[in-house]
Amino acid sequence: MNHSMKEVPGIGLKSSEMYSLIGLLEDRPKARYDFSAGPTVSKFLLGLKEGKILGKKCPRCGRIFVPPRSYCEWCHVATSEWVEVPQTGIIHTAVVSYISAKRQRLEKPEVVGIVRLDVPGYKDKEYEFAGLFHRICIDPKLVVTGEAIGMRVKVRWKPKEERKASILDIECFEPIG
Ligand SMILES: [Zn+2]
Repeated sequence: MNHSMKEVPGIGLKSSEMYSLIGLLEDRPKARYDFSAGPTVSKFLLGLKEGKILGKKCPRCGRIFVPPRSYCEWCHVATSEWVEVPQTGIIHTAVVSYISAKRQRLEKPEVVGIVRLDVPGYKDKEYEFAGLFHRICIDPKLVVTGEAIGMRVKVRWKPKEERKASILDIECFEPIG
């Protein structure tokens, strides 16, 4: 059955007639929903609340995933062991952002990027590492000059009483020393 519009008799409706003739109902449901982090990410988030960065290790290749994964994507086996990983690393990528995480325009730009954590188990390849995407508390000028890349950083935690088992329990990564 492959009719073109010409073969189907009828008169097209104007959009105003949609309401008067057919009686279109318009509804805006007040949908409230929540996102379940699942057992693996939940444990990671609870670790942050305690000031720990937890990864999960593959029993076959030894890679430690941060953020943790339930399965190793290289070996296709379940990860088994939880490991606390160092809170230090190097800036792998960085950009200057004029938009906050809550999508508001910022007067003063901030730096966000990926920090390659000092996590063992990875082969020495440029694209393979455990890391986190986060705010980086450095002068945006360092991104422009290229000095930011490779800089050693560590976690700056929010005060313990303000932590909520969220990735934002990490205030930012800041330069070491
Ligand atoms: Zn593996």
